Amino acid sequence: MNADDLLYAMRSGDEQPDEAIAAFVTGVSDGSISRPQAAAWLAWAFERGLSDRETVALTRAMTHSGDVLQWAEGSTLIDKHSTGGVGDKVSLILAPLWAALGMRVPMISGRGLGHTGGTLDKLEAIPGFRTDLEEEDLRRILADVGCFITGQTRALAPADRVLYGLRNETCTVESIPLIVGSILSKKLAEGVERLVLDVKTGSGAFMQTLDGSRELASALVRVAQGYGVHCTAAITAMDRPLGRAIGNGVEVEESIACLKGGGPPDLRELVLALSDHPDAEAALDSGKAWEKFQAMVAAQGGSLDLELRDPGANRHEVVAPRSGFITTVDARSMGRAAFVLGAGRRRAEDGLDYGVGIWMGAVLGDEVRAGQTLATLLHRDGHALDEATALVEKGLQISDAPVAVSPLVHDLIA
Ligand code: URA
Repeated sequence: MNADDLLYAMRSGDEQPDEAIAAFVTGVSDGSISRPQAAAWLAWAFERGLSDRETVALTRAMTHSGDVLQWAEGSTLIDKHSTGGVGDKVSLILAPLWAALGMRVPMISGRGLGHTGGTLDKLEAIPGFRTDLEEEDLRRILADVGCFITGQTRALAPADRVLYGLRNETCTVESIPLIVGSILSKKLAEGVERLVLDVKTGSGAFMQTLDGSRELASALVRVAQGYGVHCTAAITAMDRPLGRAIGNGVEVEESIACLKGGGPPDLRELVLALSDHPDAEAALDSGKAWEKFQAMVAAQGGSLDLELRDPGANRHEVVAPRSGFITTVDARSMGRAAFVLGAGRRRAEDGLDYGVGIWMGAVLGDEVRAGQTLATLLHRDGHALDEATALVEKGLQISDAPVAVSPLVHDLIA
């Protein structure tokens, strides 16, 4: 089928055969479909939606637009994906935890997007940590350690890079079938057998309503299962940040605390829920997960004996203007505050500051006294400090009466 045929067929509104969808993805990847033609196809897909069958076909074609990693026979190959949140450092803990439980975790992760942090950015706060591993390194580390966390290679799901760029330019990002194809193609190209999805919901999330998050989670699970992968999804709270640390270096510190059996209760609760394993708690408390993390860091060139990169940021405390109960800790405001301090990047080529961020001194539901520290902002010589302070102050609300804190895990979809 040539590009004209594909576009006329799409316009007809009829369900597209798998071959037509595969031809579109191939054409996008090899350049035989022009960017305007691809943009038109995306606009049709965005407007009319795709059926489950079409979404499976799109995902399959995008997955096979590049290499699909194949691993030696052995224990279960598992990975997780989060739709992104503020203070979400779960991947840093879950990968070594699963490896400590005898599974293999070939985790390919991304960088921060807007106000949400990225797993690779956090790990790169560890001096020497490499996130650009070659395939032979991946094979060696998976065999020796049982887990790695690295960046996407150019050979994995290349169609997604082209389509994602076009979706950004044509304002067609917020389409559930297109999101499903994009997220799953990258994960399926890892060659995993099990996939755990953490679909965030609330102000700090990509999907801000519970209904939208449920719809996305169900579509992701259905399509992954249609592809033969055992997939489950949790819909989890992102109206407030996860844990107390927001920023790159501080999130590594908090992850290490959790890996040693401590850390904030909500972070541990979510790690245990997503691990879906009866021995997960023991693996955290016995130090086994922490040992795996150290082995993974060493295998990827990092050193935990040194201070995290760019430490020594200055501190500024935001204190409670009155006594009462914390009724709001708005995740988006806190994420934006860490972002403007320098924890995130505006453009892909920008650098970031691993030392800046926020430690929350109080969390949702806490009772506080006037003058008590609510948040400590780690800043670099006052850069964007006024803006970040205003965001934190606006995002925190104190009332006379306590609020019922909504559950961390809203729903599980299997
Ligand atoms: N994350 C992705 O990888 N792709 C999307 O389309 C949205 C979020």
